Amino acid sequence: MARITLDKLGHSYMENPVADADWALKQVDITWDDGGAYALLGPSGCGKTTLLNIISGLLRPSQGRVLFDDDDVTALSPDQRHIAQVFQFPVVYDTMTVYENLAFPLRNRGVDSATTDKRVREIAEFIDMTHRLDDRAKGLTADGKQKISLGRGLVRTDVNVIMFDEPLTVIDPHLKWELRSKLKELHQRVGRTMIYVTHDQTEALTFADKVVVMNEGEVVQIGTPVDLFERPQHTFVGHFIGSPGMNVLPCTVDGGKVYLGGNQIAVANDAAQGGGTAEIGVRPEFVSFADNGLPATVVKVSDAGRHKIVETRCADQTLRMLISEGVEIPADGVKLAFDTANTRLYTDGWLAGSRSAGG
Ligand code: ADP
Ligand code: MG
Repeated sequence: MARITLDKLGHSYMENPVADADWALKQVDITWDDGGAYALLGPSGCGKTTLLNIISGLLRPSQGRVLFDDDDVTALSPDQRHIAQVFQFPVVYDTMTVYENLAFPLRNRGVDSATTDKRVREIAEFIDMTHRLDDRAKGLTADGKQKISLGRGLVRTDVNVIMFDEPLTVIDPHLKWELRSKLKELHQRVGRTMIYVTHDQTEALTFADKVVVMNEGEVVQIGTPVDLFERPQHTFVGHFIGSPGMNVLPCTVDGGKVYLGGNQIAVANDAAQGGGTAEIGVRPEFVSFADNGLPATVVKVSDAGRHKIVETRCADQTLRMLISEGVEIPADGVKLAFDTANTRLYTDGWLAGSRSAGG
């Protein structure tokens, strides 16, 4: 087992990268402590698989180093790194039985047959495949095959880290929940470092003690699920995490005061003394109807289980609220209040960038 450090990691799939966008990973610095349950969360194409493949040694980075504890492993082969990796799509040998598939990583390393047998049976139990051990993998459903892939990732006991790359993509939704909670349980039982890659916030937030959020090849925030929800350090994080995500509203700053349309808004953090444009971030949970507040009109109300999502227009912008079932929506002329402690000023410019990029 080991602490994993990524030191100024950069990767481009191009021979002569020029523009910023030519880099799939840009200056990534992360330290994963030994034994933690980590998630790597970000939209499709942000560089998650690239990062995993660099840790496992399937890909050599263009820049930077990978360290296991204090050892530089950047030049080592996957075999020399003692890692287990579960891929997005099942990797099984169709002609082998389920048992042989599960035993393969152990036999391949010369583990004796008694130990192998014990371990294979434990894992089969875990993935609920004991009754299929003698069946050929060929006849299994996609779900079944992916469970075998998971099992193969978990069967070795001598690995530094177990990495999962969107392992539940092909799994049936009702089984997903079950496997997700099992993986969490497994982590608690074996205490081995696990890195779980996903674009799905629910998977990331339920599995991990600490989540690395990535966007466009960069780490935007590393934090606990609560940090990411309550204290997003970047508008992208607020917007990406939560359902619906944080409202990100262009505003103006003048003499240390923040204005949305013509209305002054109180924020939790200090506004720069100068003037200019910025963004206000406030989650839908922290906007409420009030007697005094910003005038708005209700555009649409949708049910979201025990909550309602209310889409409004406020200061010429779309603003979403999340209200409890019982809260009454005033018939007309609504006024909105923002919870100051949960309203922040941002100057990361992500919104403007994502708009010009068509996102
Ligand atoms: P994710 O796993 O987050 O979806 P990837 O790491 O697969 O993201 O991809 C990151 C970026 O690198 C994307 O722009 C993708 O198109 C590009 N990319 C990934 N693999 C290759 C490859 N083998 N050759 C060229 N470009 C690639
Ligand atoms: Mg991927």
